[in-house]
Amino acid sequence: MAIALLYQRQISNVDFNFLIKKLKKTFSSKVSLQALDGLPLSSFNERRGQYYSTGVLNYLIEKLANYQRALTILDIDLYVPYLSFVFGEADLVNKKAVVSISRLKPKYSQGQSNAKLLTDRLVKEAVHELGHTYKLNHCREEKCVMSFSSNLVKVDNKSSDFCFDCKRLILEL
Ligand SMILES: [Zn+2]
Ligand SMILES: [Zn+2]
Repeated sequence: MAIALLYQRQISNVDFNFLIKKLKKTFSSKVSLQALDGLPLSSFNERRGQYYSTGVLNYLIEKLANYQRALTILDIDLYVPYLSFVFGEADLVNKKAVVSISRLKPKYSQGQSNAKLLTDRLVKEAVHELGHTYKLNHCREEKCVMSFSSNLVKVDNKSSDFCFDCKRLILEL
């Protein structure tokens, strides 16, 4: 089953070729890339100055109904109630996921370029959310890409790969 990768047109500081290569390899799947126009403005919460993640995801589920599996990359601040923000969200039934680079952007990075660090972080959260669409749950192995990241330190500390157990679950599908 191919993965459709969509991105908000104005995103320019991400190495999409690197991301595509990683997704192809990780999921042994074809990956297509295209720009996406239009955002569900009704999901914007004026008081919080953020977009309601589940509202955005539901909009994308409807809009991308023709795709069997799709991941959309946005540059908007996402939240769910009770959390100050989320990096992304996935719908396991419809196999649609969203990741935002808004909270993944480095303010300052030593040694490697900001674009490289941003892409590395995006790769991890993209594999993570797609992993959910393959019915993987959160993993307690902290290096595993399926471990839940509540902040950037945790994102930077985990790898972009599945642990042995998660990999086995993906292969069994
Ligand atoms: Zn998750
Ligand atoms: Zn794992």
